[in-house]
Parts: sequence; structure tokens; C-alpha cells
Amino acid sequence: MKAVLVRKPYGEENAGIADVPDPVPQKDEIVVKVLFAGLNPIDINVVRNKTVYGLKPDPHIPGSEISGVAETSGKTIKKGDRVILYSRWFDGTCKYCKSGREELCSSGGIFGVLSNGGYCEKISVPEKMLLRIPDEVNIEDAVSIPVGGLTALHALNRAGAASGQKLLVYGASGNTGLFATLLGKYRGMEVSAVSSKEWVKKYGASSVYSHDKIPEDLKADVIINSLGGDLFTESFNHAAPGAKIATFGVFTGANVQVNLAKIYTQEIEIIGTTGGTVAEMKSLLQTMQTNSIRLPTDRVFGIDHLKEAIQAYSGRTEGRILLRVQ
Ligand SMILES: [Zn+2]
Repeated sequence: MKAVLVRKPYGEENAGIADVPDPVPQKDEIVVKVLFAGLNPIDINVVRNKTVYGLKPDPHIPGSEISGVAETSGKTIKKGDRVILYSRWFDGTCKYCKSGREELCSSGGIFGVLSNGGYCEKISVPEKMLLRIPDEVNIEDAVSIPVGGLTALHALNRAGAASGQKLLVYGASGNTGLFATLLGKYRGMEVSAVSSKEWVKKYGASSVYSHDKIPEDLKADVIINSLGGDLFTESFNHAAPGAKIATFGVFTGANVQVNLAKIYTQEIEIIGTTGGTVAEMKSLLQTMQTNSIRLPTDRVFGIDHLKEAIQAYSGRTEGRILLRVQ
């Protein structure tokens, strides 16, 4: 089958299309014909071998966010079902899995990072990692659920985001930021976005600010900030007493300055979040089944145009950069 393969010294210049063997399904696995794959910061970091997790195997097939069609049947997934992939390996038996926190599985890891991913024609994965896409949701929209959507939902849940609260989203025009904006609005929150893109208002932000123009008196109950660096430190200026600041990325730096006096005197919480749970992914599918919560698509590329897709990612105007695998 056809696959994108990256290898040392990595970088999109060293990514190419290769002919690799079809996957051989193991016990309880389903073969999925990949139709769409998303492009997220995690995938770009994989291509450049810059993830915080390490990478294996080498050479490597990137791609953590997948939608496709089942080619074999299992207990609940049937051949021909449209499916999305929960992007984490998990054993279902450790204490984290047993408490419904598969994202922390002791023997788990991100699909496409600690294993080959889905920028290829077929994958074979345990049936428990697949969810059937309801008829009301198209397969191109569904591909944004496993990484962009789930990360946003999990961050909001972990922060206890609730109706009537103020939400401040840094990086609101990115995949996860835009999903957090949509879900915050859907949840009945007053959403302010930090972005240079005014169009974020179309997706539920009542106001959009560049990071150096956020009004001083804007104090949020929940702050979503995957940017890290100085912009993370800056978040504290906009944290209301009792605020929760959720982080799931370190775009501009992992080591940040934090004023502990502010944290304890105002009972502010910094919350680390990564991916999400299987139950949350199911609930997100249900939400999308009955609502028009969708990320827009900016451009779609074939998998033989990964380099162009990565270039388009940094210059995209509105919405997602996707790969149409076949
Ligand atoms: Zn586990």
C-alpha cells in the first residue's frame, strides 16, 4: 500500500511516498481503509521528529487523526461502517483505563507517535479504538474529532467549564482553539478569543483580541492556552479569582514563569490535559449528531503533497488542512 514515510534526518523535505506492506490484523483488530487524515501540530512535530514523546518506529508513518471505512467486521463494528479512530493505544486493564482515563494508560501512547500512524491507505487497530460515525455526521467533519475536538472537550471538562462562565481561548483560530470556542459557546459560556483572525467570531467568540490588546479588566473563569511561553504567563493577568487555566501544548516554550503568590491568594488552578477519554469522544460524536458544531475545511491535499499541506497549514485562512488519502 501507499504510505507517507519520514526518516532521519526528518523534516518534510525527507518525507516521501513509499510502498509498504499492508497491515496484518492481529486478534480483535479491524482493518480500516483510511479516507481522511487531519494535519495537527502533533503530526507536524512527528514529521520533524520534535515531539515531546519521542518517536517510533523509524522510518515512520505519521498521522494521528483518522477517519475511514471498516474493511473487516468485529463485534460491534461491521465491514462498511464509517469510523473514526481514538488516537491512543490503551490496554483497558490498568488503573487509569479502569477509571475511564484511557489517555493516561500505563502501557499506552499516541497512535502515529509511538506507533506508525494513518497517512497511509490502510491501518489495522483494536476494535476498541474505533467509533462508528453516525449518519448525520459526514466523514470529512468527523476527522476533526479525535485530536482537535477531543482535546478541546477534555480541556473544558477538566476545567469544569460551565454555562454562564467567561472563557478565554488563546490560539482560537487553530484546530483545538476553534473547537474550544465552538464548544464553549454551545455550553453557554461567554467566549473571548485571542487571535489575529477576526473570523473566529463566526464560531462563537463574542470578542476577538490580539494578545497585546486584551482589555485589562477581562477576567476569565476558564482559560484555554496551549501556546506556552510568555503567552502562558500573560494568561494570569486575565484569570478571575478561582480561575482554571488549561494547558495541552507548549508551542512557544515549555518553561514558563508563574507567580505563585497569585496562584495561592486567588486559588487559581493550572490544569494539564492531554487528548481525552473514549467516553468523551462518544459524547462529542453525539453532540455533533444533533448540532451544527463543525470545523470548516480550508484545503484538502493528497497524501503525496504533504510538504505543500504543511506549508498551507501555517498560511491557512479559515479552517482545517486535511489529507484525502484515497
Ligand atoms: Zn491502561
